[in-house]
Amino acid sequence: MNKPSLGLAEPLYQYLLDHSLRESPLLQRLREETARDPLAIMQIAPEQGQFMSMLVRLLGARRAIEIGVFTGYSSLCIAAALADGGELIACDVSEEWTRVAQRYWREAGLAHKISLRLAPALNTLDALLRAGEKETFDFVFIDADKVNYPHYYERALALLKPGGLIAVDNVLWSGSVADASVNDDNTRAIRAFNRALHQDPRVELSLVPIGDGLSLARKKAGD
Ligand code: CA
Repeated sequence: MNKPSLGLAEPLYQYLLDHSLRESPLLQRLREETARDPLAIMQIAPEQGQFMSMLVRLLGARRAIEIGVFTGYSSLCIAAALADGGELIACDVSEEWTRVAQRYWREAGLAHKISLRLAPALNTLDALLRAGEKETFDFVFIDADKVNYPHYYERALALLKPGGLIAVDNVLWSGSVADASVNDDNTRAIRAFNRALHQDPRVELSLVPIGDGLSLARKKAGD
């Protein structure tokens, strides 16, 4: 079993999975393959993947960006839910991990919907903005290095259409955000990000305690 969504006792988490998870055999296989990697903790929980698929479908999203691909679980969930003709721009710096992701994208028949950008995500996002793609995206998933979250967020907000949604992963950071004895760089960065997001009048906000904490920020229409 993977790690329970934060704060859920294991029997209740197992119940939640038993009564709601509809993970495809392919996603299950990817999760099991990734579990052998020491960094497997970076993979999103399966119920979170399913939740994100639902969000993308509810939005009727056609264009999406993922910042932080790892081995591809979340990109499969997003790409599968995009409307026909949809496109996911997938940003990562690791050839090794994205090689696994690409293998599963092909197997899932989703490779044509996913465009991998193997470069620092800030470069990719800035290039999109320079190319005139401001306000052309429906959904952005932020799940990369935590100290850059504010920079990813600002660019994501610029790239999103009004009404578009940003989902930000790991915002509860295994509970460390609320533990005053923890003060490493990542924890401090996430705390600062959460504080700023709480006060940001440009978005509607909900912090969902699924997986490791997922903040949803919906871009309001401009004045
Ligand atoms: Ca994550």
